Amino acid sequence: MSSIANLPISRYLQYRDPEVFRAVSNETLRQYSQLELIASENFVSEAVLEAMGSVFTNKYAEGYPGRRYYGGCEFTDVVETLAIERAKRLFSAEHVNVQPHSGTQANVAVYMTVLSPGDTILGMNLTHGGHLTHGHPLNFSGKMYKVIAYGVSRESETIDYEELDRLAQEHKPKLIVVGASAYPRVIDFERMGKIAKKAGTLMMADIAHIAGLVAVGEHPSPIPHCDFVTTTTHKTLRGPRGGMIMCKNAFAKDLDKIVFPGTQGGPLVHIIAAKAVCFHEALQPEYKSYIEQVVKNAKVLCGTIKKRGYRIVSGGTDNHLMLVDVFSKGITGKQAEKALEQAGITVNKNTIPFDTNSPMVTSGIRIGTPALTTRGMKEPEMEMVGEFISDILDDIQNVDLQPKIRSKVVELTKRFPLYESRLTEIRPIIFISEWKSFSYFFPNVNFRGKMTGK
Ligand SMILES: *Cc1c(COP(=O)(O)O)cnc(C)c1O
Repeated sequence: MSSIANLPISRYLQYRDPEVFRAVSNETLRQYSQLELIASENFVSEAVLEAMGSVFTNKYAEGYPGRRYYGGCEFTDVVETLAIERAKRLFSAEHVNVQPHSGTQANVAVYMTVLSPGDTILGMNLTHGGHLTHGHPLNFSGKMYKVIAYGVSRESETIDYEELDRLAQEHKPKLIVVGASAYPRVIDFERMGKIAKKAGTLMMADIAHIAGLVAVGEHPSPIPHCDFVTTTTHKTLRGPRGGMIMCKNAFAKDLDKIVFPGTQGGPLVHIIAAKAVCFHEALQPEYKSYIEQVVKNAKVLCGTIKKRGYRIVSGGTDNHLMLVDVFSKGITGKQAEKALEQAGITVNKNTIPFDTNSPMVTSGIRIGTPALTTRGMKEPEMEMVGEFISDILDDIQNVDLQPKIRSKVVELTKRFPLYESRLTEIRPIIFISEWKSFSYFFPNVNFRGKMTGK
């Protein structure tokens, strides 16, 4: 026991549970050594990680600050109040609930607050960029409610606001759900708010993807035009995995009651503490510069891929992501995702509007810049990444090319270190246990784990 007590904190896991420790170590190196372009992912700060790994995970705190069902909540109240106040400031929101465990839970709570089973919602077509919780038949939203879908127009591939208006008038839904998971253009929340008002319906904006852009004014805010705004905290906001709801004061009481006790039990206090840290970081001037760079990077990456002859859905991007129609060159999204993965470039296959391929195959890939921008990459690196992607896709059957690009990817990642101190600590373990899968990352190490050069 005494020997373990003297270990640095990060070593407890190694001795208590070597199998999990190994997976965590390998994941740390995977994140370091690959180019993360999944638009919904990001890398949180060490401060956010520390709050998530704190003793607040032990605390039961059903209820809200000052009104708990458990004792010992004085410090829980501190972090939850900080999270709420900071979120209000960040988004100029009237009321905030920081307890939803995820973006999905946030949407569940809003629906349960204003809808009854069988009510009609008007949400964005899933294959045009909408989210599962906006009415997918396999999701609770599609099972509990009658779903009408609006989408993008065939010509411009941007939201068809006239269709939205027409559908709202025709079906008089109880709730219009706006926001998307794969939409590269500005969303006109003001216009949508007017459409909702005209139809006499409530409106919820789900800004899970663009929350970071909204927070710093890089995308118009839906707050003045909506009854409810939901978000995740782990995408462009760069916080812990979780959800949040903002609403007008008129709905505050009903909403809070639906989050707890309506749909959740005890809050994840360690995650709420990390949300507070995330909002604090997002209120700093450096975060605004970060988001501006995310958008600039997306434009450069998009331009590079477009110049190489790939069709970009809607012709470009206004935000942190783009959709590349790889089928325009005869490749499926599935093939593209797999080939890029071989080169250490992580993207996801994605349907494009009016896709002729199935959702498991798809004609497109979705590419986002939040994670690489967090590493410090800028325009020159985006051009490099765009060329890597295009090289791979141009010659998708070439299995000799993929490892070559993989080496270039590793060199690039080493110029933009990630969780460096963690990597230093786990390096000896990886050398021994996982040298094979990471040999490209440690080219100077032979199979016995001995240094050959340098
Ligand atoms: C990611 C996302 C969600 C859901 O978030 P989870 O935390 O994965 O449940 C909800 N809505 C939109 C638009 C999203 O992109």
